[in-house]
Amino acid sequence: MNEFDIIKHYFTKASHRKDVLMGPGDDCAILQVPANTLLAVSTDTLVSGVHFFADMDPAALGHKALAVNLSDLAAMGADPCWVSLALTLPEVDQAWIKQFCAGFFELAEYYNVALIGGDMTKGPLSITVTVQGTLPEGKGLMRSGAGVGDGIYVTGTLGDAALGLQQVLGNIAVSAEHQEFVRNKFEHPHPRILVGQALRDMATSALDLSDGLAGDLAHICRASNLRAQIEVKQLPLSEAMQASVSQERAWELALTGGDDYELCFTVPELYRGQLETALAHCGVKFSRVGRMLSGEPSVDLVHDGQPYQIVSQSWDHFRKA
Ligand code: ADP
Ligand code: MG
Repeated sequence: MNEFDIIKHYFTKASHRKDVLMGPGDDCAILQVPANTLLAVSTDTLVSGVHFFADMDPAALGHKALAVNLSDLAAMGADPCWVSLALTLPEVDQAWIKQFCAGFFELAEYYNVALIGGDMTKGPLSITVTVQGTLPEGKGLMRSGAGVGDGIYVTGTLGDAALGLQQVLGNIAVSAEHQEFVRNKFEHPHPRILVGQALRDMATSALDLSDGLAGDLAHICRASNLRAQIEVKQLPLSEAMQASVSQERAWELALTGGDDYELCFTVPELYRGQLETALAHCGVKFSRVGRMLSGEPSVDLVHDGQPYQIVSQSWDHFRKA
């Protein structure tokens, strides 16, 4: 199969979306954007050996490559619509491509996202996905809108993906009953699309957690020019986490572990009740972990109100060892 046969056979799928006037196969995709609509656009690259192990299950990789991008749309409160896919492959392994597509398209179909085009090149395995979504005019969950006194919330439980990674690396032993759960959190993140949409009229700021709460929340602090106070006892920990590591290590993983793809957002106290109702409809657990305070941008940890310290920091690709 040559490049064009592969694109035609594996990456050209009829979509139900009427707004795709031209999908894969021509020089550009052409999309019909509704009037009074904003476009939200985001790109993420996954590189073999950096973001995933070279032998990762291709179906999980296809899922994850799209999921981490949809997570960015969720964090903006956008409705996902279209995706493009640039694949760099060391060789044409049709069984691998088939599995990759199975994982990718299963998630794409779930959210009614159409693959509208992409690129294929030969080289070390790397996947770049660009997603586009829509927002009603005047909406969008920026990092810069948090206010003094707002509650800080997160969805799901934190640190499980990092726990999964440490398990795979053989650094932490997870008991048999919890192994599938942590592996799933690590390989199959679920973008919190419905939560993002529900927050559009309530949250003052939001982002998705890719590098750990402590580091990611610092972005909201800087953008909003406020201080965040996190009570570590309120960090949501899974049963698997509590059964596998000490309390201190669990808090550290929850605060610094990457790849959770949960949402972190701030909501004024006034909307607390409304938030409960809105998120109950999404079926996603969420927790209040702290509040925004005035002061120099920083993320301050407290334990029963007393200052608390963790050892490591969040992941930074360019940090010197
Ligand atoms: P060009 O030479 O104009 O860049 P390409 O040969 O890269 O075109 O791609 C031909 C067509 O196939 C384009 O419409 C492109 O969007 C589509 N395409 C290429 N790779 C992929 C992919 N991995 N998934 C979906 N569509 C793809
Ligand atoms: Mg091209």
